[in-house]
Amino acid sequence: MSSLPASVPYLVVGAGVHGLSTAWHLATKLAATGRGAGADVLVVDKSGPGAGATGVACGCVRNLYMTRALHPILRHSVDVWQSDPITFGFQQVGYVAAGGAGQIPDYEVMVESHNACGYRSDLYTGAEARRFLTGLWPDFQTAGVEVVLHERPSGYAGTAQAIRGMVQKCEQAGVAIRSGVTVTGYDVTGGRVAAVHTDQGTIRADCVILCAGAWVGRHWDWLGEPARLTKRFPDGNVVDDADMWTYWRLREGEVYHEPPYRTADDREPPVLHVELIDTPVRHPESGAILQDSLYVYFKNGAERMDRPGIQGGSTPIRLGAHAEVEPYGHANDRYQAEPEFADLLTGAMGMLMTRFEGSRSRFRERRNGGIGAFTPDNVPIFDWVKDNLYLIADSNHGFKMIGVGKLVAEQLVHGRDVAELAPFRASRFAEGRSFGRHNSTSPWV
Ligand SMILES: Cc1cc2nc3c(=O)[nH]c(=O)nc-3n(C[C@H](O)[C@H](O)[C@H](O)COP(=O)(O)OP(=O)(O)OC[C@H]3O[C@@H](n4cnc5c(N)ncnc54)[C@H](O)[C@@H]3O)c2cc1C
Repeated sequence: MSSLPASVPYLVVGAGVHGLSTAWHLATKLAATGRGAGADVLVVDKSGPGAGATGVACGCVRNLYMTRALHPILRHSVDVWQSDPITFGFQQVGYVAAGGAGQIPDYEVMVESHNACGYRSDLYTGAEARRFLTGLWPDFQTAGVEVVLHERPSGYAGTAQAIRGMVQKCEQAGVAIRSGVTVTGYDVTGGRVAAVHTDQGTIRADCVILCAGAWVGRHWDWLGEPARLTKRFPDGNVVDDADMWTYWRLREGEVYHEPPYRTADDREPPVLHVELIDTPVRHPESGAILQDSLYVYFKNGAERMDRPGIQGGSTPIRLGAHAEVEPYGHANDRYQAEPEFADLLTGAMGMLMTRFEGSRSRFRERRNGGIGAFTPDNVPIFDWVKDNLYLIADSNHGFKMIGVGKLVAEQLVHGRDVAELAPFRASRFAEGRSFGRHNSTSPWV
């Protein structure tokens, strides 16, 4: 193996979706502007592409967030997914979210904001919402549904194919990706990263782009940044001594299903997301309450399945300020979806569509799930942390956010702020612009 260069203009740490997308876009923008080339960009990863959350994600691409500033980020992201859907394995099947009466105001805000930024979404309420669902899925049991949002540009991508696709884009653009190189610390002098230490030598970089996923807390400590902070909200609320990073454990799984999961007109169904706050999920046989409210998302299992089936998940579990990041994902015994999760997922699916009644025995018993590091307000941070270190910390929102790398590359190459990234600065916590609370049982806001 060749040794690491002593210096490089751009060093990307982490080969997940953000590191790979940023590296690819940096290379193409440097070449397009005559300011450099792909050879100016080096990606290092302690394991390899897709070793973090990007490799275990469900792959859903949606814009169902109450945080308006995320909506244009998703519009850019779908532009990137759609720029080469075959290479990225992107299936633009749409995303359908169904909720109860209490969610109508939230959904109204979302549909207005989506369309304002060119992300076409439709809203249905009352009987029209229920008719929309049964039009797609005739066996949909719509009790409790009062609102439906249909995001047309959304869908899902296969994680393995998306990673292969991004690696291919990087290679074609001349970017070197070095797997098996572990960053072990940073030399910070006068607000700049003077050097990045790795287990294979020290690298100096004009600009470091840190995309470390669930490992972000470790890098944050090495950079000398504080573990706790004060969050100020626009309404004057102040939360002192909040944890900078909070870990959540995601619960996902797969269910075999024959005949293949299709809509009434024999198409691939949109990704489905249902949140009914007042509807408990009950065990199909005992009737015992498995969860107080129904929160489930699922879609065709596609590349994840060896036979036709469904892949889905439910609300994540909060772990707190500390978690065992190594080993990651399916390799970590502590954070696998537990057997009760299979009851919950198949129970909720059976409550929603009769085709899934009795599907518990078809749950695919294998390792699943993973953890993510969330920011103090559960919204991404895209910002300079040091004068020459840019952080992409997506608060575990972001397999879908392949467009962040495009926007960050634009900012770095052109040396000017990109408006879409501005709301995600870390200074928002101190300046009273922390993102607010929402009407949902999940941390994704
Ligand atoms: C189970 C699960 C399901 C999910 N489902 C979805 C979904 O359906 N849709 C969606 O949009 N999002 C989903 N997410 C969230 C999404 O996967 C993540 O937000 C996103 O993949 C994070 O990408 P990243 O590039 O920041 O980090 P990662 O993909 O985690 O990549 C970080 C990389 O940094 C490397 N690294 C870390 N430390 C070092 C070091 N010291 N030296 C060198 N390399 C280092 C790691 O090896 C890793 O490869 C899911 C997450 C999980 C866990």
